[in-house]
Amino acid sequence: MSGERAILTPTPHLRIEGLSKRFGSVPAVDDLSLDIPRGDLLALLGPSGSGKTTTLRLLAGFETPDSGRILVDGEDVARLTPAVRRFGMVFQHYALFPHLDVGQNVGFGLESQGLPAAERSRRIADALAMVELAGLERRAVGALSGGQQQRVALARALAPAPRILLLDEPLSNLDPSLRERTRRELRALIERIGITTILVTHEQEEAFDLAAHVALLQRGRLEQVGTPEALYGSPRTPFVAGFIGRASPLTVRVMTHDARVARVVFPGDPGGAEVQWEIPQPEPLEGGPSVLYVRPEAVQLVEPDPTRLSGEVTLRRFLGAAALYTVRLANGESVEVLADPDAAQPGDRAGLLPVGGGSGLHLFGGEQGRSDDQAAGR
Ligand code: ATP
Repeated sequence: MSGERAILTPTPHLRIEGLSKRFGSVPAVDDLSLDIPRGDLLALLGPSGSGKTTTLRLLAGFETPDSGRILVDGEDVARLTPAVRRFGMVFQHYALFPHLDVGQNVGFGLESQGLPAAERSRRIADALAMVELAGLERRAVGALSGGQQQRVALARALAPAPRILLLDEPLSNLDPSLRERTRRELRALIERIGITTILVTHEQEEAFDLAAHVALLQRGRLEQVGTPEALYGSPRTPFVAGFIGRASPLTVRVMTHDARVARVVFPGDPGGAEVQWEIPQPEPLEGGPSVLYVRPEAVQLVEPDPTRLSGEVTLRRFLGAAALYTVRLANGESVEVLADPDAAQPGDRAGLLPVGGGSGLHLFGGEQGRSDDQAAGR
């Protein structure tokens, strides 16, 4: 999809406008436009190579865009040096100086500001208090845990009172068991400070846990931006439907489309035109073959029957409270279904019925359905 532009508020704090950056023939960031409200926490999410890091580096001023603008309160900073634009950045590996103590690390960004020593000490103490490391100025950086080092890096970014905070994969260095707690702490901290923050992550769970809004990128382009709920519940492209959460793409043919409902059949199913599903579909559909993305919770397993879409259970993954079943249809395509742990066994025949008013069924027509399907890695 081209030219996706999100106006989240009428007066954004940060506006990215038509931003592009190529490396040789690779368009790393391709005509990216995004509005970020003051105090918002926005995650840039996308697969490897989608342009997240390049976008962050363009924002920080480590790269110069080929075209486009980066407006902070209306002022274009895209070609200013990093120091002048006053963005704070936390690097993926923190980039702390091992030979300097915590206080010296936090004070590093203040050096160039020519502040009196007392003021500098006060700013360092304030920044450390913000990240709940008050009084640790003289501690050696190497004597801190990974989570504490991350907070020192955050304090260093915050000490010069930046206008915007940039976080590059902020939790990737931490033990997985620590990440969930640290995410909550980081989000609470950023919300308390109220600073406009952009973070880069390739993990959907991290984006959903940390951010108020998520911008999903693919090949340098913005696929969709919105709340996690909007991306999950109303994906605008097959790529979004396939990347956010789980969804099984199925080939369908649209028979009729009226009054916000499309009726689809499954061309490869022996039931033929007898099996018909109704899909909520407010947008007009392009003609041609269509792809239906099915969330695992959007269908239930029922008795097989010629009037129902049916297949063979090929896999059962026990998840605890539920199990995830893979059901292979007659045309070779598979659907994942979330159901009770004792609903079926591999080898069983099962019928499939939509539940919940079709809210987890997302239909994409014509060329869009086919081309983006590839990109979603299906
Ligand atoms: P990852 O999750 O793997 O870090 P990403 O989404 O952050 O990926 P980028 O690092 O921004 O993606 O890369 C976007 C594209 O630009 C990729 O194709 C990458 O190979 C290319 N690229 C990035 N930096 C450079 C560079 N300095 N020189 C050449 N190509 C680059």
